[in-house]
Amino acid sequence: MDLKALLDSIARDVLAAPARGKVADYIPALAKVDAQKFGMAFAPVDGPLVGTGDFQVPFSAQSVMKTFALALVLAKDEDSLWSRVGREPSGTAFNSLVHLEYERGIPRNPFINAGALVVIDRLIGLYGDALDAVRTLVRTESGNPDIDVDMEVARSEAEYGHRNAALAHFMSSFGNLEHPVARVLDPYFRMCALRLSCADLAMAGLFLARGGLRADGSRLLSTSGAKRMNAVLLTCGTYDAAGDFAYRVGLPGKSGVGGGILTILPGRGCLCVWGPALDKSGNSARGVDGLDEFTTRTGWSIF
Ligand code: GLN
Repeated sequence: MDLKALLDSIARDVLAAPARGKVADYIPALAKVDAQKFGMAFAPVDGPLVGTGDFQVPFSAQSVMKTFALALVLAKDEDSLWSRVGREPSGTAFNSLVHLEYERGIPRNPFINAGALVVIDRLIGLYGDALDAVRTLVRTESGNPDIDVDMEVARSEAEYGHRNAALAHFMSSFGNLEHPVARVLDPYFRMCALRLSCADLAMAGLFLARGGLRADGSRLLSTSGAKRMNAVLLTCGTYDAAGDFAYRVGLPGKSGVGGGILTILPGRGCLCVWGPALDKSGNSARGVDGLDEFTTRTGWSIF
């Protein structure tokens, strides 16, 4: 299969269709991004990366980084996190507060914001510097030492981060954070503000397609740890649209409000897409269209 030709053809089709969605503006620094950008990159487990469009243009990773934060926690401790965070789809928005009171400060899953804040809290306990642990992992796996925090985005999010602060304080009141709220929010905002391209992300996520093995052949996750992460990505990685995403794309995936989506083809590779305009669930509208086309035309979904 000529993957480069396939990606080029998908990009042409996606860009020719009427634009849908809206660029995230609740973090003001994100609102400046050009909605017409579109890129897609596929990193096979056994060959060179292929890409189309803006696949080498860095963008704000946002919640895609929650994948790497969770992997680092599970790499050191596969079990204890799950008494503090569930692994069920939430059926509500990524930044929703509604379940937390009923469920006594235990977030539904590690990919909604509340769950990711607990993951960061655990990451601080395990690694000390949570931001550096995530940044080092993505730099090493992607082979790009220049990946770094966009401080304008991090500051913008901190300034307007009342909802994340509310989630953190609420969980703290139930005793579900070990560290002070400010100490958890800071690396969370910075991690979300890491800038990297589809090419970087596709390389960085390959350990999940290799059953937990890193680029240098060492093990980050056990085989069952990688299987479990992919399962949580499938059921929770695209929030209240996870059912529709599984229906259309059929791959474990994690989206971010910067417009990126990372998907895993276990045993085969890692596919990443970027299109800044988001659908109502906060997932890239054109990104989901592109991924849908890819798995439909190749037949390479997990189903
Ligand atoms: N940094 C964003 C937030 O906390 C991440 C949300 C997302 O990408 N879905 O609101």
